[in-house]
Amino acid sequence: MRAAAERASLLVVMTDPIGPARRAVEEQLAESSPALRAFFEQELAHAQAALAVDRSTIGLRVMIVAAADRVAHQLEPLIGEHPVACKRGCSWCCRGIRVEVLAPEALAIGQLLRSSRAPEAVTLLSRALATAGGPARDLSAAERWQAQLPCAFLDEQSGACTIYDARPMVCRRHNSMDVTACERAASGPAQSTTIPRLAGPEILYGLSQAALGCV
Ligand code: SF4
Ligand code: SF4
Repeated sequence: MRAAAERASLLVVMTDPIGPARRAVEEQLAESSPALRAFFEQELAHAQAALAVDRSTIGLRVMIVAAADRVAHQLEPLIGEHPVACKRGCSWCCRGIRVEVLAPEALAIGQLLRSSRAPEAVTLLSRALATAGGPARDLSAAERWQAQLPCAFLDEQSGACTIYDARPMVCRRHNSMDVTACERAASGPAQSTTIPRLAGPEILYGLSQAALGCV
């Protein structure tokens, strides 16, 4: 758990958790602006304070997501120049794919559902999830795409993700600067349409995903 905590702390500077990489980043930080060094120190202090009171798997997951979201704000000027089209309720990307969820993310989804729904509703949902997974289980990636089966957490009427605040990193990292490209991709064969993406969020949430994999 201590190693995982160190990895989670290092996430805040978007770097590899391995020691030599950390030293390399610290060397780079030594050359960087006072504002970036202050941000690094502040994030490390934040992570250490959070870990002092909660080292549970859920606690680490909450800390990693919060750190990723804080770092995401640093990307806002970049995103302002190249806006992403993604927003709550847009869901072309919530169909036809296998949504992979790490253990801490599954726990967080369970926690969200238990805290926001009646026990009977959670039981019904668990059964519905088990049933919904059946038809997709044996499909290849191409068949899955062709079938455009919706994610079990998608509310098809509104297009809303029903677990938005606990959605996994794989959903957070996926982005597009052109929603019409997403729509075209959804109605064509898999990978036939190039989706213009912004690398920053993809890298950031990809590293967050890797950090969660260490928890
Ligand atoms: S990736 Fe495309 S479909 Fe998904 S939220 Fe972004 S714009 Fe919408
Ligand atoms: S978890 Fe939510 S955001 Fe992710 S694919 Fe499912 S409905 Fe879409």
